[in-house]
Amino acid sequence: MNYKSKYMPKGLQDLNDKRNIKMVRHAIANHPIHMALVGPFGTGKTTLARLITQGMYCTDTDPQNRPCGKCKNCERIGEYWGIRQYWWPPEGGKSIVGGYECIDCTSVTSEEIALLSKDQRYYERRHIVVFEEFHRTTTPLQERLLTFTDMQRNSTVIICYALENMSRVNAAIRQRFLPFNLKKLDDSHAEALIKRVAASESINIGDPSAISMLATLCDGIPRIVLAALEMIKIEGGEINEKNLVQIESRIKLMLSEE
Ligand SMILES: [Zn+2]
Repeated sequence: MNYKSKYMPKGLQDLNDKRNIKMVRHAIANHPIHMALVGPFGTGKTTLARLITQGMYCTDTDPQNRPCGKCKNCERIGEYWGIRQYWWPPEGGKSIVGGYECIDCTSVTSEEIALLSKDQRYYERRHIVVFEEFHRTTTPLQERLLTFTDMQRNSTVIICYALENMSRVNAAIRQRFLPFNLKKLDDSHAEALIKRVAASESINIGDPSAISMLATLCDGIPRIVLAALEMIKIEGGEINEKNLVQIESRIKLMLSEE
């Protein structure tokens, strides 16, 4: 399993940022809600959207309404996340009680948005739609989605996009969705992540100053930090200046491609 799959938060207990925890709990408690998760790539927009979905369907939430990350529903949502699908919780029995859909806007069609509106009448209890890379939808599609959002009664709708793409999101949509800004990791949090993963993967810290260099190189983006540590493991398993030089160009390429 890649470090990314291994160390990305599975349940709310794995989130370190208290702001993010509060936001997820707020969204779960206030279903149906319309939220926009806005932030640079790799800062966890998808992870938070998934945790909200898990919180809505978890069969083993704690008294604070937090998803466990381990029950059948949590596991299934985690496993199939990112694949566009309808999914009905097993406890729903014969009658449809809800579902979730995760739509990657890099490839969504107007038929799919139309289908969403059409199927709306079936959702009696809970329904959540997540639009990833929302800024990639065309203007007509965004207008369709606006109609869908205005008409719906039972759906939580979450849209995700990067701050620099805000101008490509319909102003009326921006006004209707509660914005939540995600931030990159600051140096101390990035270094804590590096140390935690290094400890559990038996990666040596050859040179303590290389930890802050690595955090800076990865620009505070958790996904890049994890990829860098995996490369270091392959390059000999020690965090030192020599290995950082080895992986530097690949990290910069990853950063520039996003
Ligand atoms: Zn659960």
